[in-house]
Amino acid sequence: MSRTPSTAADRQAAQQLADLSRTLYERGWMPGTSGNISVRLPDDPDRALITASGRDKGELTAQDMVEVDVRTGRASRPGRARPSAETAIHVAVYRTTGARAVIHAHSPYATVVAHRAAVPGALALLKVERFELLKGLGLKDPAATDLPVFPNWPQVQRIAVEVATHLAADAGGPPGLLLADHGITAWGDSPGEAKNRLECLESLCQLLVLSQSELRVSRV
Ligand SMILES: [Zn+2]
Repeated sequence: MSRTPSTAADRQAAQQLADLSRTLYERGWMPGTSGNISVRLPDDPDRALITASGRDKGELTAQDMVEVDVRTGRASRPGRARPSAETAIHVAVYRTTGARAVIHAHSPYATVVAHRAAVPGALALLKVERFELLKGLGLKDPAATDLPVFPNWPQVQRIAVEVATHLAADAGGPPGLLLADHGITAWGDSPGEAKNRLECLESLCQLLVLSQSELRVSRV
């Protein structure tokens, strides 16, 4: 057991993460122990709760969330449960956007597109345009966006640095990113908004696959 969330608001946030994990697991977007979700704590945005590493995402409870410091990505209190291995990516998103919740999943269409659009060893930008669902991403201009596809380096920290560098320079970009051959990360103001945006991005990737048109990818 990691910790018992201290306030009613913390406990509610932890339960919300457990419920959301189960929903996405049952949808097939977090197979096995894969995927991770985090949320900033309502009473202290410098702290976040994140799903513990190596746990079945269909069986998480509020006690399976680990509190981390958003400035360092480290667990606030040492305990038996370790924070998700991909905590550094969540923290990179928090530090460079106004996000309050981040979800990483292996939803099938986003993962297929992350496989097909990948440029080995380099950041790539995938053009997504015209589809009505772009309006669900909260973009300034919903006509088109460039979805970044990052190399899936074995060192998560290296991915996190590249994510932070790109997001800091691209404030008008979409609230999501792809990891080559791996999956998708999306974020928003709340776990609900992050989930909505994840759903829109997964659906856009599904439409790209079903339309069978060539993916428009540029190397950065
Ligand atoms: Zn993953």
